[in-house]
Amino acid sequence: MPTSPSETFDLAVVGAGPAGLAAAVAAADLGLSCVLLDGGQRTGGQYYRHPAPGLGAARPDRLHHGWSVYTGLAERLDASPRAEFRGGHQVWALERTGDGFALHVTRGPEGADRATVRSRSVLLATGAYERQLPFPGWTLPGVVTAGGAQAMLKAGLVLPGKRIVVAGSGPLLLAAASSLVAAGAEVPAVVEATGYLGYVRRPGVLAGVPGKLVEGAGHGSALLRHGVRLRPRGAVVEAHGTDRVTGVTVARLDADWRPVPGTERRIDCDALAVGHGLLPQIDLATELGARTRNGPDGAVALAVDARLRTSVPGLWSAGETNGVGGADLALVEGELAAHAVAGARPASGLLRRRARLRAFAELMAAAHRPGPGWTGWLRPDTDVCRCEEVPVAAIREAVDELGAGDPRTVKLLTRAGMGWCQGRMCGPAVACLAGAGAGAGADDGSGSGGPGPGPDRRPLGCPVPLSQLAAGPLPERGPVPE
Ligand SMILES: Cc1cc2nc3c(=O)[nH]c(=O)nc-3n(C[C@H](O)[C@H](O)[C@H](O)COP(=O)(O)OP(=O)(O)OC[C@H]3O[C@@H](n4cnc5c(N)ncnc54)[C@H](O)[C@@H]3O)c2cc1C
Repeated sequence: MPTSPSETFDLAVVGAGPAGLAAAVAAADLGLSCVLLDGGQRTGGQYYRHPAPGLGAARPDRLHHGWSVYTGLAERLDASPRAEFRGGHQVWALERTGDGFALHVTRGPEGADRATVRSRSVLLATGAYERQLPFPGWTLPGVVTAGGAQAMLKAGLVLPGKRIVVAGSGPLLLAAASSLVAAGAEVPAVVEATGYLGYVRRPGVLAGVPGKLVEGAGHGSALLRHGVRLRPRGAVVEAHGTDRVTGVTVARLDADWRPVPGTERRIDCDALAVGHGLLPQIDLATELGARTRNGPDGAVALAVDARLRTSVPGLWSAGETNGVGGADLALVEGELAAHAVAGARPASGLLRRRARLRAFAELMAAAHRPGPGWTGWLRPDTDVCRCEEVPVAAIREAVDELGAGDPRTVKLLTRAGMGWCQGRMCGPAVACLAGAGAGAGADDGSGSGGPGPGPDRRPLGCPVPLSQLAAGPLPERGPVPE
């Protein structure tokens, strides 16, 4: 285990969610010195989220499936002489060096300290963030993301409201709704933009993941027990309220997600949890030129080979960064990637499990792919970029009158995506409005081109204080050494 800052680890894992945690434990078991870095203070990632320490939660397991899987891995990590967890370490850039990588880290209160970690190889396990599609009223207090509602419950032990509509698209809606009702909220409706027919078209894939069927059935029966109405092929097209959301208008959607006139219906609520799936968080890799692919839902993910290697030598990827597939797949990929880095042969059962779960992930992505007609619920004054307060009208003007044909030109003309979140919130919406589709900028993995100037290209992986940038030279960029 390296003990001085100038020493080099065999493997640095970025992200301590299910994928990164499983990878670090397996890599250490296989004899590699390993550092596990996460911007958060604890391991667990988005899935195994801990209640805040001050709340004194006695039974965090009651809010999670598979908590014992997490505690088992966390204990092995603690006991390992070769693996070390460094919490509060947010990696803002990866740099290729002669013998591996330098990971540039910001840490401490408000990211005041700068540190560099050196490693011969890197595994990216940075997870995903939620895809947001704007609608009138989406910036009102009381409107939260579906994952945000889960996070409030798991980390803060609070509910976003008493009567909560859950809406958007993807399996996270059912998980969020069943957690909310179990915690005592009233959920008058779960509004899902697609039908669920996309799943039944591939019965062979479904048969390979019986655990997912059981999970889905568990959520379904919880919703039934609590009288929650499931409204497929619908969307929240407006949130109402002045100081806070007081209700939503729901409309039926056609197959392209276009609202069907005359089907609008109001539902009273004091909170709305809304999300349209997840998007892989891959900026650190794309800045090194890693090849990407468009998933069936239009999301840009890293292109990896069967050993989970990216196109950048020495850089591996596991979990949501390879395409959103859930915690089980992340655990399996983390373990597989550790074997690949160590040059060890994994158990064939693990490879088969990955194949089955990946096939399900692709099916899930295809089933919940956003249709192009969603822009039909926008109004000219609906803010698209909430950081810079850029409305639909400004983006349409940039596209229709000033000739912008891609998200980057729209950004330069309107400032959409220039704010604090750097387009993580508005990127997919801006891409659609610019006519480029949500996967703008992705390489299809064929090798025919590199990642273009899409919303997933960010030179810094997170906001960094200027004092840190001033403290030393910026990481070298440019072509990837062969
Ligand atoms: C908000 C949210 C809520 C979710 N809720 C549920 C749920 O209720 N049920 C469910 O089944 N699935 C849920 N999911 C999906 C589930 O969390 C994932 O499928 C699973 O956690 C994937 O594991 P992972 O290891 O790939 O990524 P994650 O668990 O997302 O872990 C990634 C980790 O990387 C860290 N990280 C990211 N970038 C950096 C960086 N630059 N430097 C250092 N650290 C970094 C993050 O802090 C995080 O801890 C949710 C996802 C999100 C985004």
